[in-house]
Amino acid sequence: MRGEVSKLPSSNSFMSSETAREILRTLVLISSSTQSGKNEIIEHVGKHLKKLGFRCELLNKADSPAMIASNGAQGVLLSGHLDTVPIGSGWRVEQGETRGSLVYGRGAADMKGGCTAMLMAAGALQRDEIPVALALTTDEETGMSGAAAIADTKVVSLAPAIVVCEPTALRIGTREKGLLQLRIITHGRASHACMPEEGDNAIHKMVTIFNRLKSMTPVSSNEGEKMILNVNVIRGGEKVNVIPDHCEIEIDIRTPEELDQDDVLRMIRERIDEIDHDLEIMNRLRSVSTPEDAPIVKLISQLRPGAKICDIAFATEMVRYIEKNRNIAALGPGEAIQAHRVDEHIDLNQVVDAAKLYRELCLRIKSEAMV
Ligand SMILES: [Zn+2]
Repeated sequence: MRGEVSKLPSSNSFMSSETAREILRTLVLISSSTQSGKNEIIEHVGKHLKKLGFRCELLNKADSPAMIASNGAQGVLLSGHLDTVPIGSGWRVEQGETRGSLVYGRGAADMKGGCTAMLMAAGALQRDEIPVALALTTDEETGMSGAAAIADTKVVSLAPAIVVCEPTALRIGTREKGLLQLRIITHGRASHACMPEEGDNAIHKMVTIFNRLKSMTPVSSNEGEKMILNVNVIRGGEKVNVIPDHCEIEIDIRTPEELDQDDVLRMIRERIDEIDHDLEIMNRLRSVSTPEDAPIVKLISQLRPGAKICDIAFATEMVRYIEKNRNIAALGPGEAIQAHRVDEHIDLNQVVDAAKLYRELCLRIKSEAMV
């Protein structure tokens, strides 16, 4: 074991953009939007961390594997997810392609770049004998059950601070919107298209619902306080000459802290109440916020003067961890706008900067604890 560790690069080379490129490209080339890909990537990262000397524990195996890797006790917890949304089509670059300091590929920004920075910091901190823990999950995009399992462990409650390494372009994310995902189903009666009076058109009903929801206006012009509602899935109809008896839509709603999700549901129900339908809640996460005077926010501001505090438009695993530890903020490399897009990419310079910041943060917290 000792022999293996001694072959690892020096603290400086842990922080080079070559190391960042190598780790990130490997992570991007393990496609991890499917169950088999999730198992493969967590296994790969586990091997990497064990080689560095980390103690790794797998949780949530039957569902979507999640891992806690630690070096020493009560270290700062760095959190990331290794799953991605599917690659999709229309890419103009190859997965893992590098152009100058940019690396392209699904997950490069959301958030294999952040995970790369975590692994780089982990290597340097292990060498420095500074405690740190890593939480890595594989179902952030689909339910966050891995983070829920990790949240129940002492690694979360005892951590002096938690950093969620999602892409914030190195700004300090303290506030994130809630998530409400709904499925609405309309039912009808099938008939021949030439005798519509014999049938009941489920798509026509849905169009009325759709129009009423579309007119739900944002509650504020301030970006962070705005509610966002989008219909992103629609299914219905079988054949052009048959009146459809079934239609369903899936709606994604992002709610600001100021807006109670029960009020949103009530507003929706009131608007579409008179149209016969079923409504299911698919997913629900509340909005969260860290006070701007939380120790972690102050410390990052000291280490990175001028780092802006920002709102996060998407839901992160912060929502799972904040219940158990309020000294938490999101900060990671990459632009959030790159997430889930074709030609997703990240600048390696930001990955290196994030890794350096995570390392400094852990060093500072360890030295403050010793005073
Ligand atoms: Zn993410």
